Amino acid sequence: MNYVVMDLEWNQPADGIKTENRELPFEIVEVGAILLNEERKIIGEFTQIVKPTVYNEMNEITRNLIHLRMKELKQGKTFPDTIKEFFEWCGDDYIFCTWGSLDLVELQRNMKYHGLEPLDYRPFPYLDIQKLFSIAFEEDRKERRSLEYAVEYLNIPRDIPFHRAFSDAYYTAKVMAEITQEDVFDNYSYDTYHIPKRREDEVNVLFHDYAKYISRGFADKTAAMQDREVTSTRCYICKKNARRRTNWFSVSGKHFYSVSQCEKHGYMKGKIRLKKSEEGKIFVVKTQKFINEEQVLEIEAKKAALREQRKSKRVLRKKN
Ligand SMILES: [Zn+2]
Repeated sequence: MNYVVMDLEWNQPADGIKTENRELPFEIVEVGAILLNEERKIIGEFTQIVKPTVYNEMNEITRNLIHLRMKELKQGKTFPDTIKEFFEWCGDDYIFCTWGSLDLVELQRNMKYHGLEPLDYRPFPYLDIQKLFSIAFEEDRKERRSLEYAVEYLNIPRDIPFHRAFSDAYYTAKVMAEITQEDVFDNYSYDTYHIPKRREDEVNVLFHDYAKYISRGFADKTAAMQDREVTSTRCYICKKNARRRTNWFSVSGKHFYSVSQCEKHGYMKGKIRLKKSEEGKIFVVKTQKFINEEQVLEIEAKKAALREQRKSKRVLRKKN
């Protein structure tokens, strides 16, 4: 399988929100990509300026960032022609690699706007190199850094200017070349521009130390949290029901936590994140992970603190 390392530049309304086309807040004006083979060696390059059809004036911030003038954009190819050429260039067997998750969202939004066939009808895996950089080089494995930071951190020669689609794809590929622990590349992400439509299409994947589930869409949060599959705490190794030790609770209303115990495999932490899909439905990303006793106590302490906090709020309200 090859890697398509892609970066996009986009323009937005020149006068801010006033003339925004709500179906297309960001119009892609440049596509850049590097093709890597299985050994992550460069085997191809793609760069194309896209002729805009929605925003015919350059937003100042965008212009200062990407240094492209409208005159140059007008010389570009149309978006549908660019995309057709781009996918022919990508070939059949590849995975997308991007810095962060935004490029794939904007790519799909622009494709939808132009009435093109979707990339996929359900979530698909890709590699978020911003995330992989963090896993490989940050102590907490969570901090998200800019591409410029990563390039500087890794002493990669800055031989071309940043913030053009091709150069950012190029630097992203250079960062990938510096990640030498092969298992870092097992940490793929899922694009959720199209969420699962039916229960049969829901995503269940196993990573080496956790499991991930992506649900179909629900009308609202309550409906999502009433779904048995969403709140299930089956052990992802032996598939047996794990006894709930701490029932689902939430600190923020967006994230829920639980602790259950599999007789054979031990304590398992569940985390539910409620998200809103492109079409406005609520869907759930659930992760399950085995934890030790100390971590169980931490979660339980969090729940207890929350209970105390709510109790004292109630007392205050009564007093007033
Ligand atoms: Zn088990």
